[in-house]
Amino acid sequence: MSTAEQIIAEHRWSALTDACKCGDPTISWGAHAAHVVAALTNAGHALVELPEGIPDDDGQVWFDEFDVRVDCTGTSRPYEVWVGGRSRSAAGLEHLAAEYLAAARVAEGGERGDL
Ligand SMILES: [Zn+2]
Repeated sequence: MSTAEQIIAEHRWSALTDACKCGDPTISWGAHAAHVVAALTNAGHALVELPEGIPDDDGQVWFDEFDVRVDCTGTSRPYEVWVGGRSRSAAGLEHLAAEYLAAARVAEGGERGDL
């Protein structure tokens, strides 16, 4: 899988040729943003709008209807994260979120992975 940075670099807009760097002559400037998003999606990346957390007065930021809590009172990062009262690492949550997004994509009829 190409990195997002590689894909974006492959699809830069060229003012010199007035076309996408990938060489697809059907892509206009007006359609270029959607073209880049499609290239990222087709390469297995997901672009999602992240929900905003709800901060409280005790240095906590809450998500998922107060089931997920980030304790921002520590002095080092990443901060502690608690899900349903269980400590989770930020890296573990990123991995789990990616697994969930991949499962949702399959559920919606997208790529099925290596079957
Ligand atoms: Zn392109």
